[in-house]
Amino acid sequence: MVTSVAITGAAGAIGYALAFRIASGALLGPDEQVRLRLLELPSAMGALEGVAMELEDCAFGTLAGVDLADDARVAFDGVSHALLVGARPRGPGMERGDLLAANGAIFRDQGAALEAVAADDVRITVTGNPANTNALVAAHHAPSIPRSRISALTRLDHNRAVARLAAKVGAGVADVRRMTIWGNHSATQVPDVAHALVGGRPAPDLVDAAWIADDLVPTVAQRGAAIIAARGASSAASAASATIDHARTWVHGTAEGDWTSMAVVSDGSYGVPEGLVSSFPVTVVDGEWRIVPGLAIDDVVRARIDASIAELVDEREQVRALGLL
Ligand code: NDP
Repeated sequence: MVTSVAITGAAGAIGYALAFRIASGALLGPDEQVRLRLLELPSAMGALEGVAMELEDCAFGTLAGVDLADDARVAFDGVSHALLVGARPRGPGMERGDLLAANGAIFRDQGAALEAVAADDVRITVTGNPANTNALVAAHHAPSIPRSRISALTRLDHNRAVARLAAKVGAGVADVRRMTIWGNHSATQVPDVAHALVGGRPAPDLVDAAWIADDLVPTVAQRGAAIIAARGASSAASAASATIDHARTWVHGTAEGDWTSMAVVSDGSYGVPEGLVSSFPVTVVDGEWRIVPGLAIDDVVRARIDASIAELVDEREQVRALGLL
């Protein structure tokens, strides 16, 4: 069997890192065949041809084929995974509203295209920013795709928090379980270690509240800016890796006793208004995610979640005012 996976913005920095890893089996595994459906803007089709040439030259045994398109209805035809990476970056002098308008229109059209031509089992992962609200817009224009199949990426934030906590306590990343990211994939995101375990021990017994507030939360939230400052370009390989982690966990599930973070359509859990795309701790079994119920949330984390939710509500109002919802 061959599984079709679409990547948008496939000639961009993240797309370039993503395509080769998926082609080599990192998403579906070494025994599955993948067909890549790569979407780009017409102006980037030349660069995309180059990506396709390199994919061919890798001679990956797991790669059944590569299709290039500048039309979403062609690229998304029959896809089981849609990894929506391509988005308009914030340019000089661009207001947040301009960014929401430019990207809202892209994700409106891509939602409609997925509705029309994607496979029945399609799973949609939005990486392109503003990811949560882009996913909200895409979902609105894909009404027959189950809400549970539409998500946005907070796995990179999750992975960053896992790595930071592990380094702090001198553990391996594999020893860290039950990390949580709440809210928007933005500077207001809420890394939460209150329920995390390190080697089976509660993280709050190993790190103090001041380290969480003054180090973990700002470091994770500002990690993207720190990487731009260090390498002169935004994070690409780690964002691609997290996109694969997200999609692979969605198919293969979370480990017993663990959970992951995904931005999903809220059912009203934890006071997040129904319908907003917000990050939650989720378990995944048999390809279906479920928000972890009943976690206690202290006042500090509650206030941070409320601020992030307020930002998501504001973004929703802006795209609504633009006629995108
Ligand atoms: P990148 O590949 O670096 O980034 C793509 C998107 O991912 C951006 O919105 C970026 O947000 C976002 N992103 C999410 N998480 C991260 C993270 N941790 N680090 C960095 N970025 C993150 O952008 P490029 O400009 O290199 O490539 C974008 C490509 O998309 C271009 O080739 C362009 O032609 C294409 N494109 C395709 C479209 C389509 O297929 N219809 C539509 C629009 C663009 P942020 O901007 O905040 O960094």
